[in-house]
Amino acid sequence: MKDKKHILTAILCLAGALAIIYITSLNFLSVRELPLPMEGPSVKEVKMLSEWFPGLAGTNGDTPVYILEGKKPGGKMLVLGGTHSNEVSGYMSAFLFIENAVIEEGTVYVVPYTNHSGMTHNDPGEGNYQYFTLETKSGLRTFRYGSRATNPVDQWPDPDVYIHYPSGQRLSGSETRNINRGYPGRPDGNLTEKMAYGIAELIRKEDIGLEFDLHEASPEYPVINATVAHQNAMGIASEGCINLMLMGIEMSLEQSPTNFHGLTHRELGDYTNTMAILMETANASQGRLRGATSIAQVLGGMDKCYEVSEQLGMLYVPWDPEVGHPIEERCGRHLQGVYEYSQAYNNANPDKKITYSGVPGYEDLYLNADRSMLGGAQLAMFLM
Ligand SMILES: [Zn+2]
Repeated sequence: MKDKKHILTAILCLAGALAIIYITSLNFLSVRELPLPMEGPSVKEVKMLSEWFPGLAGTNGDTPVYILEGKKPGGKMLVLGGTHSNEVSGYMSAFLFIENAVIEEGTVYVVPYTNHSGMTHNDPGEGNYQYFTLETKSGLRTFRYGSRATNPVDQWPDPDVYIHYPSGQRLSGSETRNINRGYPGRPDGNLTEKMAYGIAELIRKEDIGLEFDLHEASPEYPVINATVAHQNAMGIASEGCINLMLMGIEMSLEQSPTNFHGLTHRELGDYTNTMAILMETANASQGRLRGATSIAQVLGGMDKCYEVSEQLGMLYVPWDPEVGHPIEERCGRHLQGVYEYSQAYNNANPDKKITYSGVPGYEDLYLNADRSMLGGAQLAMFLM
């Protein structure tokens, strides 16, 4: 009789455990499916990155590449969003570009999730969200909020020390899963190195002349409201930067350091023929000095703790307590930057022009916006 009771308890415990595993794995598997951009007027094709590097096929590092073509031939440009999947303005700018751009001359490749694996998990220890939603023209749409690093389910364990290929540079082990320390990548490396190699192969095989990598960083990080360019791209970056500043966009310009390896603006410039440019905006939800993480902070860019930090002189961006740094300002900076730098590229390469219209810029998204719409609603007006 006693034994029977024990068996019954054991069966009940096992059933309970299986139910918990089932429910949590549903959530776990659902976050591996990513919401995709809708196809705007110039999208001709969507291919997977494995078309250019087959070693990614069937892995969580394979990612969609949107190909936007103009009526006239011209130059080729690549926009990378989601290098770091917790840097919202990077991938939301990619969504805005894909859904709005009307390409006149040339071809534009857009990758919304450069580290696809990084977007399939988040950093719960940071109080980060898995999702946020926006009310768009087609109704309520869900967008993801991921992690800076490759999902450990896809690549684990990290070594104690990460040795970059091919420079031999040594970094902390966790940087092994940071794709922006993995360029130029290698075909037989770990998943992060393979993803980086895939991007480099896309640039080499398509002969892409201009490349953008869109980032965000915390307001207390020195490289912010900034552009970093490979030395080959400094000419066009200087011209574009002057035009951005004439529009009232505060932008610092730095040349990519030659002794800091693994980043797009260093390695894609060195290992391909592209002009590599990276931009950074200020994201309040990434900083150590922030208050509790909230969607209002992620999209609205407001935070009481940063008001105090600014008064103490600890920030590298101006901080207006009434406005903060909303998603519209951040995406507006990125998209205006892509526009101005591509214009400068066209001036230097009149036989390889990339011209387009329809993409909202700094004025559409931010300067001319009704203040009450900032924090997501204004941006959502430009999503399909
Ligand atoms: Zn970043």
